[in-house]
Amino acid sequence: MNLTQHLIALSEAPGISGYEGPVRAILQAAWEGLADEMSVDRLGTLVATKVGSGTEPRPRILVTAHMDEIGLMVKAIEDGFLHVTGVGGVDPRVLPNQPVIVHGERPLPALIATRPPHVLPKDQRDKHQYISQLRVDTGLPAREVEKLVRIGDPVTFDQKAVMLGDDILSGKSLDNRASCAALTLILEALQTRSHQWDVLCAATVMEEVELQGGETIGWHTQPDIALVLDTTFATGNGVGEDEGFKLGDGPAIIVGPNTHPRLLDMIRCETDAIECSLHMEPAAGTSGTEGWAIQISRDGIPTAVLDVPIRNMHSPVEVVALKDIERLVRLVVEFIMGLDDETLDKLSLDYEE
Ligand SMILES: [Zn+2]
Repeated sequence: MNLTQHLIALSEAPGISGYEGPVRAILQAAWEGLADEMSVDRLGTLVATKVGSGTEPRPRILVTAHMDEIGLMVKAIEDGFLHVTGVGGVDPRVLPNQPVIVHGERPLPALIATRPPHVLPKDQRDKHQYISQLRVDTGLPAREVEKLVRIGDPVTFDQKAVMLGDDILSGKSLDNRASCAALTLILEALQTRSHQWDVLCAATVMEEVELQGGETIGWHTQPDIALVLDTTFATGNGVGEDEGFKLGDGPAIIVGPNTHPRLLDMIRCETDAIECSLHMEPAAGTSGTEGWAIQISRDGIPTAVLDVPIRNMHSPVEVVALKDIERLVRLVVEFIMGLDDETLDKLSLDYEE
């Protein structure tokens, strides 16, 4: 699988929380032939299982990445212009004049309209607008808009992914399609490696709203270990060294209650796979990822959260270094290779070397 092409396709596919179908279809096609079993759960999460070589009953590791993205939803229609509301953590500063697609009766190209500066009252010219003040313009006559668009229709960013140099990709929804692409590469790498445990890769739904996909897939699959792949902040342009990690300098792991301490130790031992250090990302409480929901499924799942740094998070022009995704893949694959009969004992907080 060509990572660049795969990630561009994933980035450009529309899929706000609850409407992930087009992203799931790309992953289903990519995972066909890489998985021993594949299924879609009742909320839409896609799960691929790669059966291990160990004796039954085999322990299982779940590796997840959410496939939904932030976006907008039609809230009202007024004279052919659409009022919208945010789905997930949408930043109103990045919205004005952004091209979008309104997923009505058919996909309608549109844009987020702005009032000309000439007609803005002076005291409003330097201020950003709230989402409730912005209007989406399809350019169509009001009567046609009434026919084609319904309240509740999704609106997604219409943003082509662009390569910036050889290794840097910019586009929408790299949070968290970067990790979805990583899942594909992990499944691909496992084709030629012998692993004892069963490996379940899940592209989950609805993370950006309330972590529902993670919560339900953790409960449903009941794995022995879960790894959650997501994105974090890259430094620069106002993001300090204490708030993020350098783009292109490798992945990070959450350190704190959301990552099981024994798992942290085990994953730290695999850093030979990534020719750079694994960065520690302290999170004193929730990591803000679906790892928070998966960890407390049933009677608790030892979980670790791993992140790829991106710039401009929650904007239509997020930026990722492809080599960071490749390193994350190598790290996870080496960790999976190391899972054996003794791993579960070693995970116990009573275990002594
Ligand atoms: Zn995310």
